[in-house]
Amino acid sequence: MGRWIDVADGVLVRRYEELDLSVGLVVGSARCLVVDTGGDAGQGAELAAAVREVTPLPWSVVLTHAHFDHGFGTEAFTPCPVWAHDRCRTQLMATGADQRAKWARHYRERGEHGVADRIDAVRIVPPDNLVDDRAVLDLGGREVALLHFGPAHSDHDLVVHVPDAGVVFAGDLVEHGAPPQFGDAYPQEWPAALDAILALDAPIVLPGHGEPVDREFVRRQRADLAAVAELCRAVAAGTLTAEQAVARSPFPEQFTLDALAR
Ligand SMILES: [Zn+2]
Repeated sequence: MGRWIDVADGVLVRRYEELDLSVGLVVGSARCLVVDTGGDAGQGAELAAAVREVTPLPWSVVLTHAHFDHGFGTEAFTPCPVWAHDRCRTQLMATGADQRAKWARHYRERGEHGVADRIDAVRIVPPDNLVDDRAVLDLGGREVALLHFGPAHSDHDLVVHVPDAGVVFAGDLVEHGAPPQFGDAYPQEWPAALDAILALDAPIVLPGHGEPVDREFVRRQRADLAAVAELCRAVAAGTLTAEQAVARSPFPEQFTLDALAR
């Protein structure tokens, strides 16, 4: 079960204990937009019901990126427009079945059979409204921009900017409560994407995991990411060993090793 947090007029974030996940809702006068759909069929259904308690308006979905925890709940919302970067669709189609098998196995090995069953039950929904760098959605009385700032946490991250509310949904470009995930990341380019988020000048930034944060938090995460990028360059240039990079990194060992492997 999740819980809603009101972050601005008609802008909500729903928080889940599982993976500390945060998904979003933006309500206009004619339509609403659901930002990410959770990691399994059960989470998607729970979220869809929770959105219906907030608004009866027709919905669209936008996926911030193709990782399972952000887009595996989409079926509960279909049929509806599903927005994503075009490479998000490519990635979901290429890796979705493998992600489903991997994470179902992960939860089964932890004895969490209910979650594993709900992941096994996922039908992966291909996004049908594809974004390159920018799209603007009119929700009625309010416009929302879907923006791609180059490779960062993945090669297809979208952020959702709600200018009239001063809010940005950052997906996993910003992580609160846990370090950023580098498994599919582009460490050298990531800091520039956070500069682009900061340039939107929105006081409220909503990470894909964790609590709402402010611009100062994003600035600090940008500095940590830039430090990791510098360590990766030094290791690649042979002026630093991986061990030294891990010791100097602002992030835990495994996260730094994932960054070095990119
Ligand atoms: Zn992710």
